[in-house]
Amino acid sequence: MGIQRKTYTDCQGCSLCLLPCPMWQQHRDVMFSPQGIAKAMQSGATATDVQEQAASCIHCGACDVMCPENIALSSWLEELSEVAGSALNQVVKEPKLNGFVISCDSWVQEGIHADDLYIIDAAPFHADYKRRVEHYTSLRIKTGCSMNLDLNRMAIPTGIGSEAAKQEKFNVCEQIQWLMQGREFARVIVENHDDMEVLRERTDKPVVCISELLPSLHERGEYATR
Ligand code: SF4
Ligand code: SF4
Repeated sequence: MGIQRKTYTDCQGCSLCLLPCPMWQQHRDVMFSPQGIAKAMQSGATATDVQEQAASCIHCGACDVMCPENIALSSWLEELSEVAGSALNQVVKEPKLNGFVISCDSWVQEGIHADDLYIIDAAPFHADYKRRVEHYTSLRIKTGCSMNLDLNRMAIPTGIGSEAAKQEKFNVCEQIQWLMQGREFARVIVENHDDMEVLRERTDKPVVCISELLPSLHERGEYATR
């Protein structure tokens, strides 16, 4: 049986959820964080009172991993947005042949190099954190590439495609600038195809989708006979 997740009433105000939260990073205001919203509601605020904050969440799921109280924060914030009448936020629905699955392919791993910046799709990564963090750690060691992981090994999301970005409550360009800051790379590899167009606008380096690294069955046959 899975571990029972708690609710916002159990928030004890440790502030750990602020560390990986892109919403908090952009606002630098604790009210734009799970902690701020939880504490406001513990003090009697309603969903309508925190509508602006809840609608600014991009549902990357990093706070779910960080919270020591095991509160299901991102799904609670999504519910809050719905209760408050905001548009539905992004839901994590991965196709079967997703970036994670493709990155497990040994042929694909051969095509990832030390000067690549590899952009993990953040929401599915956080939703399956324990398994995937091990996979990406070994992939990073094996290939030498850099990844969009922060010091806590949370994936820094682009926010592209989120309802908050569509409603201009989250600044994608600022987020990508933060993601690329201080990183040296010759090529960007993305797992989420939606990230390609905007990333191409923000860098003069080539941007490819990981599915492009998949050799065809024909090519695999050729490689195997070499
Ligand atoms: S899901 Fe992401 S953006 Fe939303 S509150 Fe959590 S860390 Fe912040
Ligand atoms: S990490 Fe969890 S317990 Fe700590 S402040 Fe955030 S919501 Fe509250």
